Amino acid sequence: MIKITENYQIGILEMDYVSKIQELEQGFGLAMAQASDLNKLEQVRQQYLGRSGLITEFVKIIKELSSEDKKSWGGEFNRLKIASEQSYQLRLQELQIAQKRQVELERASFDVTAYQVGRQFGSLHPCSLISAKIEDVFISMGYQIADGPEIETEFYNFEALNVAKDHPARDMQDTFWLNLPGYLLRTQTSNVQIHTMQNQQPPIAILAPGRVYRSESTDASHDFAFMQVEGLLVGRDISMANLLATMQVCLQAIFGQQRLEIRVRPGFFPFVEPGVEIDMECPFCKQGCSVCKRTRWIEICGAGLVHPNVLRAVGADPDEFSGFAFGLGLTRVVMLNYGINDIRLLHTNRVAFLQQF
Ligand SMILES: [Zn+2]
Repeated sequence: MIKITENYQIGILEMDYVSKIQELEQGFGLAMAQASDLNKLEQVRQQYLGRSGLITEFVKIIKELSSEDKKSWGGEFNRLKIASEQSYQLRLQELQIAQKRQVELERASFDVTAYQVGRQFGSLHPCSLISAKIEDVFISMGYQIADGPEIETEFYNFEALNVAKDHPARDMQDTFWLNLPGYLLRTQTSNVQIHTMQNQQPPIAILAPGRVYRSESTDASHDFAFMQVEGLLVGRDISMANLLATMQVCLQAIFGQQRLEIRVRPGFFPFVEPGVEIDMECPFCKQGCSVCKRTRWIEICGAGLVHPNVLRAVGADPDEFSGFAFGLGLTRVVMLNYGINDIRLLHTNRVAFLQQF
């Protein structure tokens, strides 16, 4: 290594200025390239261009040169100084832009769901949980989820479902009538059947969970508003066997049982013919328990084959198409599934109750 600060060597070792300048430029360039952020770049700047930095110190030598050497080397020293300054500015800009981009990127990928200590989390309502479970079962069988209005006309809630004006079935369900003549709060999710069949040609496979209303006095097992799930399948050659198999698969999935027997009793619903009531084997006991009232069977759903009049009402030919429909008491399934003994708990919004799910 040449001691370039010692005067007597300067004149005879001109070539060493060239290599020293090269060495400084290369070292500075490499150090800047390796500086991955603004802090590291600042350290490099101080190391080379600071008050007693390597380049700063080297450039000072010029003062000690003879006037002849100053003439021949001045330009080179000056170029080193200016070029170092310029390349530093370039690298500085580069890193500033990169840092800005990084900040923008972090902002864009800000995770709003990230866990934060002390934050309270909500939970899904038990009706939403069971509804989603039933929807999953039917979506896996190719059904579509349908929705319908809760404020409904007499036509969709009764007439189109084969419940004529003087039909006693209108008394079976105590209806909330609205001040607007002919309008009511739907008493069943079956109105979705009619809306769907009016807008869609068979084959139809829909599942419609939703809230329904009955003008009833409330107690632990009755409420003026509760949830139902309506299912409808219309196509060619749809039979009672399809209905029973579908219901069995659905109930087994809801209650997480490999085998769950169902039994069928005749039932009357004006919009199906024949109509059936489906009971399921009690999923909670082997010998009888309080849930099944020691009978081993639980009433779970009303169903049947779609009445030809209903098909006609929506312009489908009953000779060509057939179908089944069922109405499952979603609220009842929720209560059975979680062992809830008072229906009113489901909409009192008590946090202590809801936090359990
Ligand atoms: Zn039981």
